[in-house]
Amino acid sequence: MTQQPGADDPTTAPDAPVCRRLVGRTAVVTGAGSGIGLASARRLAAEGAHVVCADVDAAAGESAARETGGIFVSTDVTDAEQVAALFATAHDTYGSIDVSFHNAGISPPDDDSILTTGIDAWQRVQHTNLTSVYLCCQAVLPYMREQGRGSVINTASFVAVMGAATSQISYTASKGGVLAMSRELGVQFAREGIRVNALCPGPVNTPLLKELFAADPERAARRLIHVPMGRFAEPEEIAGAVAFLASDDSGFVNASSFLVDGGISGAYVTPL
Ligand code: NAD
Repeated sequence: MTQQPGADDPTTAPDAPVCRRLVGRTAVVTGAGSGIGLASARRLAAEGAHVVCADVDAAAGESAARETGGIFVSTDVTDAEQVAALFATAHDTYGSIDVSFHNAGISPPDDDSILTTGIDAWQRVQHTNLTSVYLCCQAVLPYMREQGRGSVINTASFVAVMGAATSQISYTASKGGVLAMSRELGVQFAREGIRVNALCPGPVNTPLLKELFAADPERAARRLIHVPMGRFAEPEEIAGAVAFLASDDSGFVNASSFLVDGGISGAYVTPL
């Protein structure tokens, strides 16, 4: 039997009470305009944080900032100058950067099997998913070191810890890089009050995924069979993990591969 979140479930209903663990904190969210980033921006704001929404899509980013009462900074996370300007703006506006959620990423269709993926697709995905995390960490860590505190959350994926025969080779390699980089940074800066964790979501029920699987149910079934819970995650469930990692409730969680995958990576045989 699958367990669906919904209005009857007090933990996931839209009006479920949230705690206010982030009052007075400032959180930067990259890719805040859509999906996991948008759900996380909403959740961090609901917990009291000032949210700095960064996105390359100005309309989506502005809308996220309006909704969360924060600010929008137009940012292409592959551009070092724009990334530096993002964190300078966040710090100038709110006086601290307590949480930095490096979430922007892409998963384009021309990144596929190693046998067919060209160098352009390979590099585009590496730049957007991995180099961006390097740039964001490099830019935010000096602020956090100065403050003597901070929580960095880098988005990897469950594919960083397990292989898929439905390959997206550059995506998987980029997320493996995010995982290793996050672990190393978490260790290096641990005694300066800074925690760095790699968030590893399982497949999430995004509009793109819904559309793809509505058109091709066999493709959905091939994946769902591996998920013990029998469903994909809702963005709000990933946002809940982001808020935990952002807050002091996760004070001893550092350098982790923080899996939010419905048990996929722990499963050999799943329930019928
Ligand atoms: P999404 O496509 O819904 O949102 C991504 C956002 O990032 C968009 O608003 C987009 O405009 C922005 N963005 C893309 N390139 C950018 C750039 N160069 N600079 C700034 N912003 C940029 O994606 P999502 O499904 O919410 O995924 C978010 C993150 O979670 C990604 O890193 C993704 O790899 C990861 N992830 C997603 C899933 C999933 O099933 N959706 C699973 C595991 C990990």
